[in-house]
Parts: sequence; C-alpha cells; structure tokens
Amino acid sequence: MDTSNPTNTPLYQIIPSDVCFSCDVCCRFLEVDSPLAPIFTEIETENAVAQGADPALFYPQVDAKSAQIQLKSYNDFYICPFFEPETSHCTIYPIRPLDCQLYPFAFMHSEDGSEVVLGVDNLCPFGEAHIETEAFQKHIRHVINYVESESVTAQIIANWSLIGDYQETVEIVHTLGQLTDATPTANS
Ligand code: SF4
Ligand code: SF4
Repeated sequence: MDTSNPTNTPLYQIIPSDVCFSCDVCCRFLEVDSPLAPIFTEIETENAVAQGADPALFYPQVDAKSAQIQLKSYNDFYICPFFEPETSHCTIYPIRPLDCQLYPFAFMHSEDGSEVVLGVDNLCPFGEAHIETEAFQKHIRHVINYVESESVTAQIIANWSLIGDYQETVEIVHTLGQLTDATPTANS
C-alpha cells in the first residue's frame, strides 16, 4: 500500500537516523495539549486507523479534515502514542504524517499572520548546527520543491489546520505563495 504523500518529487531526509535515535527532542512534548503535537491529514488518519490505531486518539481540527494526535503521559512529560521511548522509534514510521516527515522543517503563519511560510526549527540541534552549510541549503531547496509540488500543496490546502501558529524558534526560509493565497489567514 502506498501510504506516502503522492508527489513526483520524493522527500529525502538529510539528518542521519543515528543522529535522531540519540536525540531527545522529537516526539516528546512538555504539555498534554501541546499545539506542536503532530497533525494528521484525513488520509494519514485513515491509514493509521487502518493499521490499528485507535480512532479516539485523533482530535478533529477546524478544517473538518485533519486531526491532532492525543498525547500520553510518560515520566515528567508527554509523548506521541506512536513513539516507543525505549528504542526512540516511531511505530508507524512508514506512514508517519507529513508533519513528522518534514521536521525540522515546519510550515506556519508568519508573525503578522498574513503569509504561510516554511522554516527550520532551531530546536532541532542538527538543523541549528547545519543550516548554513551548502548541503543543508541544497536540502532547503529540495523541501521547498516538495512542499510546493502540486499534490502536496493540494493536501495542505485541503487540510489547512496543518498550518501552525507562528513559532519564534522556527527560522523562516521561504514564503509559500500558493498556500498563502488558498488558505485562511491566521486572523480569519
Ligand atoms: S530534533 Fe532533529 S536531530 Fe533530534 S530527533 Fe528531531 S529531527 Fe532528529
Ligand atoms: S507519528 Fe511517529 S514521528 Fe510523528 S510524533 Fe509520533 S512517534 Fe514521532
């Protein structure tokens, strides 16, 4: 089953897996209702439920399509229910949502709410350390092309609650014009 986000330009990862497995940032959250908990598109939710995820874990969002996952308590913080803290693995990795596939990239509203922008979250230690390198700059262009591909942009437009609020930790690298024009502004 093809559970990926259909596009002519596959999304490549730049961060080596062993770096992520030894990092403790992703998939963990400080609050049970963290706005940063991953949001699944409608089809991503259907795919996860088809593979056994509890439908009650998915909170419907205002776009009436996407859903945010319900976090669960773990030690002094909260984790995604699909995260396995003992191994630092995602148990739905092949069908993890676009929101997770893109990280440390994130799309969000600009600070004044007038645009949809793409940025790199400085909370990711690899992203913060490498963003100025030639390889990372090349990767930024690849991610922009991916997000602006027709099929991915169409999915985001249909599931526009994926577009998060402005976060000051995210370094903006690009304005997403089509998404800006086709989705509600942050203030609407
Ligand atoms: S914060 Fe960055 S390095 Fe750490 S797990 Fe997430 S993507 Fe990997
Ligand atoms: S779906 Fe997977 S990658 Fe995304 S937050 Fe949950 S465990 Fe992490």
